[in-house]
Amino acid sequence: MIDIAANLYEIGEMPPLAHVPPKMYAWVIRPERYGEPLDSFKVEVVDVPEPGDDEALVYVMAAGVNYNGLWAGRGKPVDVIAQRRKNGDQNSFQICGTDASAIVYKVGRKVSNLKVGDRLVVYGSQWDADCPHVLEGGDPVQSRTYKVWGYETNWGSFAQFSVVQAHQCLPKPAHLTWEEAAAYMASGVCAYRMLHHWSENAVRPDDVVLIWGGGGGVGCMAIQIAKEAGAIPVAVISDDRKIEFCLKLGAAGCINRTHFDHWGKLPPIDDREANDLWLRGSNRESKAGALGFRRAIWKIVGDRRNPQIVIEHPGEDTLPTSMFVCATGGMVVICAGTTGYRATTDLRYVWMQQKRLQGSHAADDIDAANCNALALSKRLDPCLSRTFTWDDLPQAHQLMADNHHPPGNMSVLVGSPRPGLGLGE
Ligand code: NAP
Repeated sequence: MIDIAANLYEIGEMPPLAHVPPKMYAWVIRPERYGEPLDSFKVEVVDVPEPGDDEALVYVMAAGVNYNGLWAGRGKPVDVIAQRRKNGDQNSFQICGTDASAIVYKVGRKVSNLKVGDRLVVYGSQWDADCPHVLEGGDPVQSRTYKVWGYETNWGSFAQFSVVQAHQCLPKPAHLTWEEAAAYMASGVCAYRMLHHWSENAVRPDDVVLIWGGGGGVGCMAIQIAKEAGAIPVAVISDDRKIEFCLKLGAAGCINRTHFDHWGKLPPIDDREANDLWLRGSNRESKAGALGFRRAIWKIVGDRRNPQIVIEHPGEDTLPTSMFVCATGGMVVICAGTTGYRATTDLRYVWMQQKRLQGSHAADDIDAANCNALALSKRLDPCLSRTFTWDDLPQAHQLMADNHHPPGNMSVLVGSPRPGLGLGE
């Protein structure tokens, strides 16, 4: 029997609609625990936050797992708690979580697009609506006020309640469970923007699209979105067991990167031997270099065609190859530097072949709505790989930290008491 005036509800015990208790459970990161996920996350009871005028308080049913919880918990590359405190925030803790399926419990005074009881997915972009750049029609992701919810802001989805800006909320696909619906927005909107936002190089039918980490969160979304646009996705993987997964999503073929050994920074320009090794590899058959990698793309495409778009996120290990194989006039679009930020490139390929290196971050409302439209019409599979209980949230992050997580996207149950719930309107 649920106590309708309770101060605190247990995990999976849903408060009556619109009854907001004063306290909630949350997985909390504090600077004194910075480190790997098994150490940095700890469950605490904290105050339920109050939504502002253009915000909503949502009850989190399930939360998606992504790297933001990892970076925040390490305090690197950015100490997000210190940064928030520098900007005047009193709270010396962080509640992460940049992906959620949720139910609206309270709306701010100026919110007109939501009502209590709405079932949502939430995407992770926040900005100040009064920012002059935004008011003048500028890209909100380029606003000085832009922040990633549940990373650069507090009150993410690893808690029973979360505060979100109303524009972040989109309808939950009725055919998805809570945990499926929580899995795809963070990686999906990012992949959508990478492929569609940069208009001169936006994906077109028949384009070859090279996708690093085809079995990963961004990768599995990019394969589907590229295929949906009529392009030819070529996925890179490190384990042949991911081949079937990528092919089912629409990849034309997969390249196993462990058959190559030219990764990392480029050798010095005057070291002929090292440059030859980079191009040809240490063994043409078993360990090929950049030329062999390009041949592997051609073999899949069935033609000597280079990728018009390269979906980059490993960074330091792969950028030299991405820039090398990218087609003349094509785009390497990058959303992260998971293996390192100080990547190298041979600029001759960039200017002579007029390639574009495009940074891409998160999404705006249009990217997010377009991405969610694919999910609503069953053309984007969330690729939920594994559902974790609330208690196992740090383990889910640790798997990701060790690159031992299964292909696809992972979710953690928060308000939903068990997997398989949430279907229907
Ligand atoms: P993920 O699920 O872990 O996938 C990343 C994939 O990269 C892995 O599956 C792995 O596949 C591959 N990989 C690992 N090490 C590699 C290496 N040395 N060389 C080439 N490939 C390597 O992670 P994700 O969710 O896709 O996120 C990827 C990155 O994008 C993270 O840094 C994340 O923070 C970032 N991200 C950014 C945004 C944004 O808006 N800016 C949004 C979402 C994610 P194989 O081992 O099979 O090759």
